[in-house]
Amino acid sequence: MDLKEKLADLRQQGLEDIENSQDLKRINEIRVKMLGKKGNLTGVLRGMRDISAEERPKVGQFANKVRDELTAAIEERHAALEQAALNEKLKAETIDVTLPGSPVAQGQPHVIQQIIDQVVDLFVSMGYEVAVGDEVEQEVYNFEKLNLPKDHPARDMQDTFYVTPSVLMRTQTSPMQARMLEKHDFAKGPLKMISPGKVYRRDTDDATHSHQFNQIEGMVVGKHITMADLKGTLKVVARSLFGDKLDVRLRPSYFPFTEPSVEADITCFNCMGKGCAICKHTGWIEVLGAGMVHPNVLKMSGVDPEEYGGFAFGLGPDRFAMLKYGVDDIRNFYQNDVRFLNQFDEKG
Ligand SMILES: [Zn+2]
Repeated sequence: MDLKEKLADLRQQGLEDIENSQDLKRINEIRVKMLGKKGNLTGVLRGMRDISAEERPKVGQFANKVRDELTAAIEERHAALEQAALNEKLKAETIDVTLPGSPVAQGQPHVIQQIIDQVVDLFVSMGYEVAVGDEVEQEVYNFEKLNLPKDHPARDMQDTFYVTPSVLMRTQTSPMQARMLEKHDFAKGPLKMISPGKVYRRDTDDATHSHQFNQIEGMVVGKHITMADLKGTLKVVARSLFGDKLDVRLRPSYFPFTEPSVEADITCFNCMGKGCAICKHTGWIEVLGAGMVHPNVLKMSGVDPEEYGGFAFGLGPDRFAMLKYGVDDIRNFYQNDVRFLNQFDEKG
Protein backbone atom coordinates (compact mmCIF):
# COMPACT_ATOMS: atom_id res chain seq x y z
CA MET A 1 0.00 0.00 0.00
CA ASP A 2 1.55 3.29 -1.00
CA LEU A 3 1.50 6.47 1.03
CA LYS A 4 -1.40 8.03 -0.84
CA GLU A 5 -3.58 4.97 -0.20
CA LYS A 6 -2.60 5.02 3.46
CA LEU A 7 -3.61 8.67 3.65
CA ALA A 8 -6.94 7.95 1.93
CA ASP A 9 -7.64 5.12 4.41
CA LEU A 10 -6.72 7.34 7.32
CA ARG A 11 -9.04 10.05 6.04
CA GLN A 12 -11.97 7.68 5.65
CA GLN A 13 -11.44 6.00 9.03
CA GLY A 14 -11.01 9.42 10.67
CA LEU A 15 -14.21 10.88 9.18
CA GLU A 16 -16.18 7.81 10.27
CA ASP A 17 -14.83 7.99 13.82
CA ILE A 18 -15.61 11.69 13.98
CA GLU A 19 -19.15 11.17 12.84
CA ASN A 20 -19.70 8.34 15.33
CA SER A 21 -18.34 10.23 18.32
CA GLN A 22 -21.06 10.95 20.88
CA ASP A 23 -19.38 13.24 23.40
CA LEU A 24 -16.68 15.84 23.81
CA LYS A 25 -14.31 13.43 25.54
CA ARG A 26 -14.41 11.08 22.55
CA ILE A 27 -13.89 13.85 19.98
CA ASN A 28 -10.86 15.09 21.90
CA GLU A 29 -9.44 11.56 21.92
CA ILE A 30 -9.89 11.39 18.12
CA ARG A 31 -8.14 14.73 17.71
CA VAL A 32 -5.10 13.46 19.61
CA LYS A 33 -5.17 10.08 17.85
CA MET A 34 -5.34 11.64 14.35
CA LEU A 35 -3.53 14.95 14.51
CA GLY A 36 -1.34 14.74 17.64
CA LYS A 37 2.46 14.60 17.59
CA LYS A 38 2.34 10.84 17.99
CA GLY A 39 -0.88 10.59 15.97
CA ASN A 40 -1.68 8.51 12.90
CA LEU A 41 -1.28 11.31 10.37
CA THR A 42 2.14 12.26 11.69
CA GLY A 43 3.09 8.56 11.55
CA VAL A 44 2.07 8.24 7.91
CA LEU A 45 3.86 11.47 6.96
CA ARG A 46 7.09 10.06 8.36
CA GLY A 47 7.08 7.78 5.30
CA MET A 48 7.46 10.91 3.07
CA ARG A 49 11.24 10.66 3.11
CA ASP A 50 11.05 7.25 1.36
CA ILE A 51 9.20 8.51 -1.72
CA SER A 52 10.72 10.03 -4.85
CA ALA A 53 11.33 13.77 -5.25
CA GLU A 54 8.69 14.18 -8.02
CA GLU A 55 6.00 12.31 -6.07
CA ARG A 56 6.68 14.21 -2.82
CA PRO A 57 4.86 17.53 -3.63
CA LYS A 58 1.70 15.72 -4.82
CA VAL A 59 1.60 13.45 -1.77
CA GLY A 60 2.42 16.44 0.41
CA GLN A 61 -0.48 18.41 -1.06
CA PHE A 62 -2.83 15.47 -0.51
CA ALA A 63 -1.60 15.04 3.06
CA ASN A 64 -2.35 18.74 3.75
CA LYS A 65 -5.81 18.32 2.27
CA VAL A 66 -6.47 15.28 4.48
CA ARG A 67 -5.25 17.15 7.58
CA ASP A 68 -7.42 20.19 6.78
CA GLU A 69 -10.48 18.03 6.17
CA LEU A 70 -10.02 16.09 9.38
CA THR A 71 -9.38 19.27 11.36
CA ALA A 72 -12.51 20.91 9.96
CA ALA A 73 -14.59 17.78 10.62
CA ILE A 74 -13.33 17.59 14.22
CA GLU A 75 -14.06 21.27 14.84
CA GLU A 76 -17.55 20.99 13.41
CA ARG A 77 -18.36 17.88 15.42
CA HIS A 78 -16.83 19.45 18.54
CA ALA A 79 -19.05 22.56 18.18
CA ALA A 80 -22.15 20.42 17.63
CA LEU A 81 -21.42 18.24 20.69
CA GLU A 82 -20.67 21.33 22.80
CA GLN A 83 -24.05 22.85 21.87
CA ALA A 84 -25.80 19.55 22.64
CA ALA A 85 -24.09 19.39 26.02
CA LEU A 86 -25.18 22.96 26.79
CA ASN A 87 -28.77 22.23 25.80
CA GLU A 88 -28.74 19.14 28.01
CA LYS A 89 -27.42 21.18 30.92
CA LEU A 90 -30.04 23.93 30.46
CA LYS A 91 -32.76 21.33 30.33
CA ALA A 92 -31.53 19.69 33.52
CA GLU A 93 -31.27 23.02 35.35
CA THR A 94 -34.74 24.35 34.44
CA ILE A 95 -36.28 26.21 37.42
CA ASP A 96 -39.11 24.25 38.96
CA VAL A 97 -41.68 26.93 39.77
CA THR A 98 -43.73 24.47 41.79
CA LEU A 99 -41.01 24.09 44.44
CA PRO A 100 -41.77 25.95 47.71
CA GLY A 101 -40.09 29.40 47.83
CA SER A 102 -38.14 31.03 50.64
CA PRO A 103 -40.53 32.47 53.21
CA VAL A 104 -41.09 36.26 53.14
CA ALA A 105 -41.75 38.00 56.45
CA GLN A 106 -45.32 39.30 56.50
CA GLY A 107 -46.70 41.97 58.78
CA GLN A 108 -50.14 42.35 60.29
CA PRO A 109 -52.38 45.25 61.28
CA HIS A 110 -51.26 47.04 64.45
CA VAL A 111 -52.96 45.66 67.57
CA ILE A 112 -54.95 48.89 68.03
CA GLN A 113 -56.05 48.79 64.41
CA GLN A 114 -57.20 45.21 65.01
CA ILE A 115 -59.44 46.40 67.86
CA ILE A 116 -60.75 49.31 65.75
CA ASP A 117 -61.51 46.92 62.88
CA GLN A 118 -63.39 44.56 65.21
CA VAL A 119 -65.51 47.37 66.68
CA VAL A 120 -66.20 48.98 63.31
CA ASP A 121 -67.16 45.61 61.75
CA LEU A 122 -69.53 44.98 64.63
CA PHE A 123 -71.30 48.34 64.23
CA VAL A 124 -71.44 48.10 60.45
CA SER A 125 -73.18 44.73 60.93
CA MET A 126 -75.78 46.61 63.04
CA GLY A 127 -76.41 49.12 60.26
CA TYR A 128 -74.18 51.99 61.45
CA GLU A 129 -72.54 54.36 59.01
CA VAL A 130 -68.76 54.93 59.33
CA ALA A 131 -67.78 58.61 59.40
CA VAL A 132 -64.06 59.32 59.51
CA GLY A 133 -63.43 63.00 60.21
CA ASP A 134 -60.34 65.18 59.86
CA GLU A 135 -57.66 65.19 62.53
CA VAL A 136 -57.32 68.96 62.13
CA GLU A 137 -60.66 70.43 63.19
CA GLN A 138 -62.32 73.79 63.70
CA GLU A 139 -62.63 74.80 67.32
CA VAL A 140 -66.35 75.39 66.87
CA TYR A 141 -66.93 71.70 65.99
CA ASN A 142 -64.47 70.39 68.55
CA PHE A 143 -65.97 72.41 71.43
CA GLU A 144 -68.84 74.91 70.90
CA LYS A 145 -71.21 72.66 68.99
CA LEU A 146 -70.64 69.93 71.58
CA ASN A 147 -71.93 72.22 74.33
CA LEU A 148 -68.45 73.28 75.43
CA PRO A 149 -68.54 77.09 75.13
CA LYS A 150 -65.38 79.15 75.57
CA ASP A 151 -64.23 79.23 79.20
CA HIS A 152 -66.06 75.98 79.96
CA PRO A 153 -64.01 74.28 82.69
CA ALA A 154 -64.09 70.91 80.88
CA ARG A 155 -61.92 72.41 78.14
CA ASP A 156 -59.04 72.51 80.64
CA MET A 157 -58.71 68.72 80.50
CA GLN A 158 -58.26 68.84 76.76
CA ASP A 159 -56.80 72.26 75.84
CA THR A 160 -54.22 71.28 73.48
CA PHE A 161 -52.46 71.63 70.12
CA TYR A 162 -53.73 74.69 68.28
CA VAL A 163 -52.83 75.22 64.62
CA THR A 164 -54.39 78.71 64.51
CA PRO A 165 -56.48 80.44 67.24
CA SER A 166 -59.63 78.75 65.84
CA VAL A 167 -58.22 75.50 64.42
CA LEU A 168 -56.71 72.66 66.44
CA MET A 169 -55.72 69.00 66.38
CA ARG A 170 -59.05 67.46 67.44
CA THR A 171 -59.16 66.40 71.09
CA GLN A 172 -61.95 63.90 70.50
CA THR A 173 -63.78 62.20 67.64
CA SER A 174 -67.02 63.85 68.86
CA PRO A 175 -66.88 66.70 66.27
CA MET A 176 -68.27 64.12 63.85
CA GLN A 177 -71.47 64.07 65.94
CA ALA A 178 -72.15 67.71 65.06
CA ARG A 179 -71.04 67.34 61.45
CA MET A 180 -73.23 64.27 60.87
CA LEU A 181 -76.25 65.77 62.69
CA GLU A 182 -76.07 68.83 60.42
CA LYS A 183 -75.99 66.68 57.30
CA HIS A 184 -78.50 63.98 58.20
CA ASP A 185 -81.97 63.88 56.64
CA PHE A 186 -84.17 62.61 59.50
CA ALA A 187 -87.11 62.11 57.14
CA LYS A 188 -85.21 59.06 55.90
CA GLY A 189 -84.83 57.50 59.37
CA PRO A 190 -82.54 57.67 62.39
CA LEU A 191 -78.85 58.60 62.23
CA LYS A 192 -76.60 55.70 63.28
CA MET A 193 -72.91 56.51 63.04
CA ILE A 194 -69.55 55.32 64.22
CA SER A 195 -66.42 57.44 63.94
CA PRO A 196 -62.99 55.91 64.63
CA GLY A 197 -59.79 57.93 64.54
CA LYS A 198 -56.77 59.55 66.17
CA VAL A 199 -57.14 62.38 68.69
CA TYR A 200 -54.60 64.67 70.37
CA ARG A 201 -54.38 66.07 73.88
CA ARG A 202 -51.89 67.76 76.10
CA ASP A 203 -51.04 64.97 78.52
CA THR A 204 -48.38 64.19 81.01
CA ASP A 205 -46.28 61.35 79.69
CA ASP A 206 -47.27 58.52 82.00
CA ALA A 207 -48.01 54.84 81.56
CA THR A 208 -51.73 55.19 80.86
CA HIS A 209 -51.81 58.40 78.80
CA SER A 210 -50.33 59.44 75.49
CA HIS A 211 -50.52 62.81 73.73
CA GLN A 212 -51.99 60.97 70.75
CA PHE A 213 -54.42 58.11 71.07
CA ASN A 214 -57.46 56.61 69.37
CA GLN A 215 -61.14 57.01 69.98
CA ILE A 216 -64.25 55.47 68.56
CA GLU A 217 -67.29 57.66 68.76
CA GLY A 218 -70.76 56.28 68.26
CA MET A 219 -74.14 57.98 68.10
CA VAL A 220 -77.74 57.09 67.36
CA VAL A 221 -80.33 59.88 67.01
CA GLY A 222 -83.94 59.36 65.99
CA LYS A 223 -87.40 59.03 67.50
CA HIS A 224 -88.07 57.11 70.74
CA ILE A 225 -84.48 56.18 71.51
CA THR A 226 -83.93 55.43 75.18
CA MET A 227 -81.17 54.58 77.65
CA ALA A 228 -82.26 50.96 77.38
CA ASP A 229 -81.12 51.07 73.74
CA LEU A 230 -77.79 52.47 74.91
CA LYS A 231 -77.30 49.75 77.52
CA GLY A 232 -78.28 47.00 75.07
CA THR A 233 -75.85 48.33 72.48
CA LEU A 234 -72.99 48.52 74.98
CA LYS A 235 -73.70 44.96 76.10
CA VAL A 236 -73.36 43.76 72.52
CA VAL A 237 -70.00 45.57 72.18
CA ALA A 238 -68.65 44.28 75.51
CA ARG A 239 -69.67 40.70 74.82
CA SER A 240 -68.31 40.70 71.31
CA LEU A 241 -64.91 42.02 72.42
CA PHE A 242 -64.40 40.51 75.87
CA GLY A 243 -66.65 37.47 76.22
CA ASP A 244 -70.19 36.13 76.08
CA LYS A 245 -71.19 36.14 79.72
CA LEU A 246 -70.20 39.70 80.63
CA ASP A 247 -72.66 42.19 82.02
CA VAL A 248 -72.68 45.98 81.73
CA ARG A 249 -73.47 48.46 84.47
CA LEU A 250 -73.95 52.20 84.14
CA ARG A 251 -72.78 54.74 86.74
CA PRO A 252 -73.71 58.43 86.73
CA SER A 253 -71.01 60.67 85.31
CA TYR A 254 -70.58 64.02 83.62
CA PHE A 255 -69.84 64.95 80.00
CA PRO A 256 -70.82 68.33 78.54
CA PHE A 257 -72.42 66.82 75.44
CA THR A 258 -74.65 64.22 77.10
CA GLU A 259 -77.40 64.47 79.71
CA PRO A 260 -77.66 62.23 81.63
CA SER A 261 -74.11 60.97 81.30
CA VAL A 262 -72.78 57.61 82.40
CA GLU A 263 -69.59 55.63 82.77
CA ALA A 264 -70.07 52.09 81.54
CA ASP A 265 -68.39 49.22 83.38
CA ILE A 266 -68.23 45.61 82.26
CA THR A 267 -67.88 42.52 84.42
CA CYS A 268 -64.16 41.86 84.92
CA PHE A 269 -63.32 39.30 82.25
CA ASN A 270 -60.38 38.10 84.29
CA CYS A 271 -62.18 37.10 87.51
CA MET A 272 -65.76 37.17 86.18
CA GLY A 273 -66.77 39.57 88.97
CA LYS A 274 -65.09 37.86 91.93
CA GLY A 275 -62.41 40.54 92.30
CA CYS A 276 -58.77 40.56 91.17
CA ALA A 277 -55.84 42.91 90.56
CA ILE A 278 -57.02 43.94 87.08
CA CYS A 279 -60.40 45.17 88.36
CA LYS A 280 -58.85 46.51 91.59
CA HIS A 281 -61.01 43.96 93.47
CA THR A 282 -64.30 45.56 92.44
CA GLY A 283 -65.35 42.90 89.92
CA TRP A 284 -65.96 45.65 87.33
CA ILE A 285 -63.82 47.38 84.71
CA GLU A 286 -64.55 50.85 83.41
CA VAL A 287 -64.55 50.74 79.61
CA LEU A 288 -66.24 53.81 78.18
CA GLY A 289 -68.24 56.98 78.63
CA ALA A 290 -71.72 57.48 77.24
CA GLY A 291 -75.04 59.22 77.71
CA MET A 292 -78.13 60.66 76.08
CA VAL A 293 -77.26 63.38 73.55
CA HIS A 294 -77.61 66.81 75.21
CA PRO A 295 -80.54 68.89 73.82
CA ASN A 296 -78.13 71.79 73.24
CA VAL A 297 -75.98 69.64 70.95
CA LEU A 298 -79.06 68.73 68.89
CA LYS A 299 -80.26 72.36 68.80
CA MET A 300 -76.89 73.72 67.68
CA SER A 301 -76.87 71.32 64.76
CA GLY A 302 -80.43 72.25 63.75
CA VAL A 303 -82.19 69.18 65.15
CA ASP A 304 -85.37 69.65 67.23
CA PRO A 305 -84.76 68.06 70.68
CA GLU A 306 -88.54 67.92 71.26
CA GLU A 307 -88.89 65.53 68.38
CA TYR A 308 -85.56 63.68 68.23
CA GLY A 309 -83.16 62.29 70.76
CA GLY A 310 -80.61 59.56 71.14
CA PHE A 311 -77.45 58.29 72.74
CA ALA A 312 -73.75 58.70 72.16
CA PHE A 313 -70.70 56.91 73.47
CA GLY A 314 -66.96 57.15 73.16
CA LEU A 315 -64.53 54.35 73.74
CA GLY A 316 -60.78 54.07 73.62
CA PRO A 317 -59.39 51.21 71.52
CA ASP A 318 -55.99 51.78 73.19
CA ARG A 319 -57.58 51.16 76.58
CA PHE A 320 -59.50 48.18 75.21
CA ALA A 321 -56.25 46.71 73.88
CA MET A 322 -54.52 47.28 77.24
CA LEU A 323 -57.36 45.53 79.05
CA LYS A 324 -57.80 42.73 76.58
CA TYR A 325 -54.12 41.81 76.40
CA GLY A 326 -53.00 42.88 79.90
CA VAL A 327 -50.60 45.57 78.61
CA ASP A 328 -49.65 47.92 81.45
CA ASP A 329 -47.96 50.75 79.51
CA ILE A 330 -49.82 52.50 76.67
CA ARG A 331 -46.51 53.77 75.26
CA ASN A 332 -45.67 50.21 74.14
CA PHE A 333 -48.29 50.59 71.43
CA TYR A 334 -46.49 53.56 69.88
CA GLN A 335 -42.84 52.51 70.11
CA ASN A 336 -43.01 50.20 67.08
CA ASP A 337 -40.96 47.45 68.68
CA VAL A 338 -41.71 44.44 66.48
CA ARG A 339 -40.99 42.04 69.33
CA PHE A 340 -43.94 43.62 71.14
CA LEU A 341 -46.19 43.99 68.09
CA ASN A 342 -45.63 40.44 66.79
CA GLN A 343 -47.35 39.09 69.91
CA PHE A 344 -50.65 40.30 68.46
CA ASP A 345 -50.41 38.49 65.14
CA GLU A 346 -54.02 37.75 64.10
CA LYS A 347 -52.80 34.79 62.07
CA GLY A 348 -51.55 33.27 65.35
ZN1 LIG B 1 -61.21 41.09 88.17
